[in-house]
Amino acid sequence: MYNKRPVNFAGVRGNAVLLAQQFVGEVLHKGCVAVDATAGNGYDTLFLANIVGESGRVYAFDIQQAALDITARRLKQFGLENNVKLIHDGHENMNLHIDSPVDACTFNLGYLPGGDHNSITGPSTTVKALQIALDLLKPGGRISLVVYTGHPGAGEESRAVEEMAAQLNPSLFGVLKVTFINRSLSAPFLIFIERVKKEK
Ligand code: SAH
Repeated sequence: MYNKRPVNFAGVRGNAVLLAQQFVGEVLHKGCVAVDATAGNGYDTLFLANIVGESGRVYAFDIQQAALDITARRLKQFGLENNVKLIHDGHENMNLHIDSPVDACTFNLGYLPGGDHNSITGPSTTVKALQIALDLLKPGGRISLVVYTGHPGAGEESRAVEEMAAQLNPSLFGVLKVTFINRSLSAPFLIFIERVKKEK
């Protein structure tokens, strides 16, 4: 069962990632298919794998083998490695690896803290991956993006993502931007997307 404890998002390191997990977690249950587009340290992959269970499936992407190794170790620690496919490829190639519709997808952009700062997500690949994820998304499915604005190149990426999300057809997608309005302009923001349910 998804744990409905409130998410603590206050403080200077206010947790955008947990907020994003809460958003996608609400539509996930055992047997669902989920994607972590940026495995990084594996926290979102672990979260998704825990909810979808043995009968579900998680696809986790990263271009850094080191990130996938960290993610694999984390999953193993909780015995959740069996239903997760770790994919050493860019999320912009998601369509080459996933052919089933997906219930949810998380993006945590930027660079891996403690990792290679050159392996950073970029505007064109992120936008391409987001488009593929939108195409794969089931009715009622959700996508979260944690978008960072403080590092070099972040401005271009955050603008590209926001511009694309803002242009999505409102009869097909609900789109929210969530910002920490009392923090500096370099605080991360979130984009939440839900595909509308089909009319019955
Ligand atoms: N900024 C976050 C962590 C982001 S981790 C924080 O502070 O917590 C982002 C991950 O995306 C990194 O591990 C990086 O290797 C990965 N990445 C970068 N470009 C990618 C791409 N095209 N496809 C998949 N993963 C990518």
